[in-house]
Amino acid sequence: MSLSKQARSIATSPTLALNEKARILRARGEPVIHLGIGEPKNPTPINAILSSSAQLRIGDVKYSRVDGTPSLKKAIIRYTEEHYGRVVAPENIIVTTGAKQSIFNILYTLLNPQDEVVLLAPYWVSYPEMVKMCYAVPVVVTPEDGSFYQRMSDIEQAVSSYTKAIIINSPNNPSGVMYRVDFIAELVAYCERKGIYLIMDDIYHKLVFDHKPWTPGYQHTQKDIENSHIIVVNGISKAYGMTGFRIGWVIAPRKLVDVMINVQSQMTSNPATLLQSAAEGALTGQQGVIENLRLTIENNRNVVLNELKAFNDLKIVPPDGTFYVMPDFRAYGNDSVKLADFLLEKALVVTVPGRDFGMEGYLRLSFAGSVKDLTEGVERMRWALDPTAPNEIYIGDRKLIRDWM
Ligand code: PMP
Repeated sequence: MSLSKQARSIATSPTLALNEKARILRARGEPVIHLGIGEPKNPTPINAILSSSAQLRIGDVKYSRVDGTPSLKKAIIRYTEEHYGRVVAPENIIVTTGAKQSIFNILYTLLNPQDEVVLLAPYWVSYPEMVKMCYAVPVVVTPEDGSFYQRMSDIEQAVSSYTKAIIINSPNNPSGVMYRVDFIAELVAYCERKGIYLIMDDIYHKLVFDHKPWTPGYQHTQKDIENSHIIVVNGISKAYGMTGFRIGWVIAPRKLVDVMINVQSQMTSNPATLLQSAAEGALTGQQGVIENLRLTIENNRNVVLNELKAFNDLKIVPPDGTFYVMPDFRAYGNDSVKLADFLLEKALVVTVPGRDFGMEGYLRLSFAGSVKDLTEGVERMRWALDPTAPNEIYIGDRKLIRDWM
């Protein structure tokens, strides 16, 4: 079969393979614990249900403007004013099918073949693949000191005359860390000076712990929105736990938004109108839902960190936000795909290999699930990997004895 070279070069995610194995095991009745999934368990906020069901009841669900309904844009303008301290115009906004489409559309709109996009490792798995889908080149900057924090000088070294954009995601999936304010300030100033677009993926900005302040990139530039090189991505998937609704948005100079609208109009047209109503309901309704979710996730973070302490040889950077932690498992094996496979096979626990995120030897664990799954999942992992752990464990109603150390 003759298929596109480009399409074939897009990586199959080992995550999918692991998920499939987990699904088969579950279907057989095995008590699999999933620490791979990046979505919270909260119910849909009531205001999202009410506004979309009102639209359904009227039975008037048609195409909307490609760039989003005016009333959802109004809600996004208010959200941006409240959380970013900037008043933007409707023309600075495009609503998309999830933040994922936001990022793809931005890249497609900015990049020529061979252009480069700087990514900070660990990075979200989709960034390099999306860059490649635009025939451009991902350039990864990995922190040298084993931390999750790049130095500005490392980034400057990675920038070339081909660099069109830098993507930053803070707090970060998969590490959970939030970049320091002074680093963000330097990065913003650098991008503004050099004319490099800074794509700020703020999807986790409401899920920050320990009362740490999250500050928007705009705070570090004097430029107005039309002249700034900051491009903001946000959405409802994480803050409101509305992953299945698939609504995200971009804030950018209007010249860029205009082209993104053309791109989107030829690709998907508007994001589903009904789901735009739901997003509007979430953004204009009771905002306490965000704090409730944040508190639950913060508690889960504390639980998982406490459980992980029992491991003898893990290196952990405590997450400042998101629902992920990414310990360094190299004491137990350098191949993260093999390690994740081993944990699924022996302990029936799903984790995500760090290799997907540009950090080999690490595993990403999601703490979005239940406290019971977190405690039991980590206990099982420890039993499988740590020779100082008791060598007997109950998994489901089976007593297992570790015989591989
Ligand atoms: N950016 C990051 C860093 C993410 O983790 C995700 C979701 N996993 C997205 C963007 C995409 O979010 P959405 O569900 O809105 O497409």
